[in-house]
Amino acid sequence: MQKAEKKEKLELYRDRNVQILLSNFLSGQIKTLEPVYDPQTGYHYPAVETIVGDASQVEPFLSKLYDAGVLEKKLFDKVIFCPKCGSADVSFHYCCPFCKSFDIQKSSLIEHVKCGYMDLEANFRQGDQYVCPKCHEPLRKIDVDYRKAGIWCTCKDCSKSFDIPVSEHFCRSCHAVSTFEEASLKDVYSYTLKENVKAESSLSWFLAAAIREFLVQEGLKVEGPAFLKGKSGANHSFDIVAYKGAESQKVIVVDLATSTENVVSEQPVIALFAKIFDVSPERAYLIAIPKLSENAKKMAELYNIHAIEAKNQGEAIASLREKLKAV
Ligand SMILES: [Zn+2]
Ligand SMILES: [Zn+2]
Ligand SMILES: [Zn+2]
Repeated sequence: MQKAEKKEKLELYRDRNVQILLSNFLSGQIKTLEPVYDPQTGYHYPAVETIVGDASQVEPFLSKLYDAGVLEKKLFDKVIFCPKCGSADVSFHYCCPFCKSFDIQKSSLIEHVKCGYMDLEANFRQGDQYVCPKCHEPLRKIDVDYRKAGIWCTCKDCSKSFDIPVSEHFCRSCHAVSTFEEASLKDVYSYTLKENVKAESSLSWFLAAAIREFLVQEGLKVEGPAFLKGKSGANHSFDIVAYKGAESQKVIVVDLATSTENVVSEQPVIALFAKIFDVSPERAYLIAIPKLSENAKKMAELYNIHAIEAKNQGEAIASLREKLKAV
């Protein structure tokens, strides 16, 4: 991932509305965000409208997330707009290529395989069965003794026949008729969460956003991910760095570690210890999801790292709140 993209995403993850939408995706409440069609207003995304409140903000919101590489989009439909009044309530007319009338009769062509006779379906029909008009044999099984040989249209106005009609659009709102050339089309998408974003969120990106927000609410000045310069002169990066009030010396550092294999090893404890040894923050927290290994826990205690074990974001924040109160 590019640095710029990373920063842009972090910026977005800080947005409350983004957090809600992503949590809906991550919890499986939304698998694919599909537009819902309303005859009055056209396509819209009710699930996102509930989040952002203002329906006009839904599209900019979704395209921002797409541009930042958070969401993936797939063409869902194309909406045709009437060139005269702008309505999306447009229907299709299939018309006679000769006189342009849309009063056409569409029928199937049937071929009797045995004798090779081909005619319109209506000419085979006798009551509730098909009988060949040429050899008078009843037709029994489709694709065995007879087959559909295509479509045949007849114009009720000029009586000419053709196999491919021409199409035009009919506006149900202003009744204007328009051609493909005149109509304007708009792409409508369905959205899914990008696979790497899912991975990232399990790698605590999303958690970091929620914790940053919590610390801000607690009145701290928060940065993250952020670098702090150590006594050695080296820069060390922490998932979150929070400053208490005006005294910028009083700094809290937070690292996050998640494990897909149920236990977080001592590795992040060691990494955090090496950094705080050089940086000397007031306090250091390691948030482990879902829990730390026994060895890691012992090491954290030894190194004066405040370990927080949590099954999820909510638990992590609740536990951090307790620990901050205890200071
Ligand atoms: Zn119209
Ligand atoms: Zn015609
Ligand atoms: Zn026949």
